Amino acid sequence: MAKQLVVDPKKCVSCRTCELVCSFKHNEEFNPRLSNVTVFHYEDAAITVPIMCMQCDEACCAAICPTGALKRNADGVITHNADKCIVCKMCVSACPLGNISYSVAKKKVFKCDLCDGETWCAVHCPTGAISVIDPDEALDKKKLAADKLKAAVEEVSA
Ligand code: SF4
Ligand code: SF4
Repeated sequence: MAKQLVVDPKKCVSCRTCELVCSFKHNEEFNPRLSNVTVFHYEDAAITVPIMCMQCDEACCAAICPTGALKRNADGVITHNADKCIVCKMCVSACPLGNISYSVAKKKVFKCDLCDGETWCAVHCPTGAISVIDPDEALDKKKLAADKLKAAVEEVSA
């Protein structure tokens, strides 16, 4: 199974570095619209949370692709094959997390590939809010992150 990105929302300072480095890594541009990371700001709770590809077990993006351009590789990562892609953008619409981007200039779609092991979002996050973990640890860490987010929301909503 693929390694996974997890976020500690309490460490996120909303600098949006993760968005920018992702777009630069994959599109050679510092442009959040071309990023496969989206930082959501929950104003009422005063919390920001970067959302990245979960390499879903039942990946809508791969399921809807009419040409088989999105496939899980041996490492468990859903990868995008530009040679097979007809740029119908069904995957962009299908991802519930909005994690596939489309470049108008390049007429191409881009998906998180965990940077072939380098994971720039995690490496460049100045506060260490993003980590890469093995799937065996993933459930526990995701639960921990969800619990932290819930506690933080409850704290500011009280
Ligand atoms: S791009 Fe979206 S649907 Fe596809 S694996 Fe990632 S999170 Fe899941
Ligand atoms: S844009 Fe490409 S990868 Fe996405 S669903 Fe269409 S053919 Fe598949």
